[in-house]
Amino acid sequence: MHIAMIGTGYVGLVSGACFADFGHHVTCVDKDGDKIAALQQGEIPIFEPGLDALVAANVKAGRLRFTTDLAAPVAEADAVFIAVGTPSRRGDGHADLSYVYAAAKEIAAALAGFTVVITKSTVPVGTGDEVERLIREANPAADVAVASNPEFLREGAAIRDFKFPDRIVVGTSDERARKAIGEIYRPLSLNQAPVMYTARRTAELIKYAANAFLATKITFINEIADLAEKVGADVQDVARGIGMDNRIGSKFLHAGPGFGGSCFPKDTRALVKIALDHDAPLRIVEAVLGVNDNRKRAMARKVAHALGGNLRGKTVAVLGLTFKPDTDDMREAPSIPLITGLLDMGAKVRAFDPVGMEAAKRELPDIVYCDDAYDCADGADALVIVTEWVQFRALDLDRLKAVMKQAVVVDLRNVYRPEEMAAAGFVYEGVGRGKV
Ligand code: NAD
Repeated sequence: MHIAMIGTGYVGLVSGACFADFGHHVTCVDKDGDKIAALQQGEIPIFEPGLDALVAANVKAGRLRFTTDLAAPVAEADAVFIAVGTPSRRGDGHADLSYVYAAAKEIAAALAGFTVVITKSTVPVGTGDEVERLIREANPAADVAVASNPEFLREGAAIRDFKFPDRIVVGTSDERARKAIGEIYRPLSLNQAPVMYTARRTAELIKYAANAFLATKITFINEIADLAEKVGADVQDVARGIGMDNRIGSKFLHAGPGFGGSCFPKDTRALVKIALDHDAPLRIVEAVLGVNDNRKRAMARKVAHALGGNLRGKTVAVLGLTFKPDTDDMREAPSIPLITGLLDMGAKVRAFDPVGMEAAKRELPDIVYCDDAYDCADGADALVIVTEWVQFRALDLDRLKAVMKQAVVVDLRNVYRPEEMAAAGFVYEGVGRGKV
């Protein structure tokens, strides 16, 4: 199959490389000329484990190409995926569909022969209808079917998630589209990955419902963590105790600083707006958003509290800036409101992240960027673990204590055990586990 992937970001690049690895001929298109130039020279513009080798192997095999020119690859494609961004629209939280619609119009003009246009971007219910309308309006002669195929990969584990998905959701009522998409994913269905065919609108809603449910699960355990702190219980054990119940499941039950990232915040916001527009408000999801926003802001106060309430003149070391480990993505990372709050309260902030510092410098210019965890902790009154990179899971506690001004650790990911930190001479505060 010949595939054109429109948008070569986290989703487009990973999906394009994986489709090429399945044996298809893929052209990844992006309007960002710097990104395409870098890819043409073998440089990967994002950090995603294993992606460089996968891209290199498929480029070498002649199955994966990069270009800024949309028309030629669309004309020769059997399937065109739209994987452009759908960020929150400034001001009202709706999904900004301008990139999707612009791509649809460009695609329309270039279509030749029967082509399936598939929306992989996360889009509100009804977007497929509008994409189809725009294409038919711009090119009434086009032989086209428009389908939805939402993507569920997680950054940091994107290739594994793409190649071993829990399910593949395909939204279409067109038999030719169904056949073409089935052919594209055949290597996965041969591996027993469940492929679920459904109506286009249903597929669009599945994606938002999945993200909202996961965001709700995280927020639920975060509130239980607050209660655990008040009543002297350990949220880690509560999470294990409820997670062993198969009806609940153990995933997404890690208490922390609140969810961030490129998807959950914007997708829950968009779902709330979609629901209000259709007069079917989702009060639970609305509450999740409110609780999560408050929580992210409260983390700076938690650090201040650990240092006696006053941060003026204090130095805080922050370990981990990206919204989760194994990515360089800073979008809506909890580190941003945390650090902004610490600066507002008069603290000086030093920070270290294994791969996210370049991206972080654009968001957080007024802090000191360090070479490693110990350099970061040097002279600090408190150390805050914000992102649980594997590098921070086995720190040399004696060395840490020796370089810090005060031995205070606020562990927002519960990486360490309170007893071991107390034994090492630290004042330690985790999430939902009280203070040692
Ligand atoms: P991204 O911002 O990393 O990449 C989007 C790319 O599209 C950019 O490189 C941009 O230059 C390009 N683009 C925009 N308009 C274009 C056009 N007309 N022609 C060519 N290129 C164009 O975004 P992302 O994180 O890959 O997300 C893409 C979509 O996938 C979003 O809807 C997102 O919600 C969804 N999604 C993301 C993830 C994730 O983990 N990042 C997971 C599942 C779904």
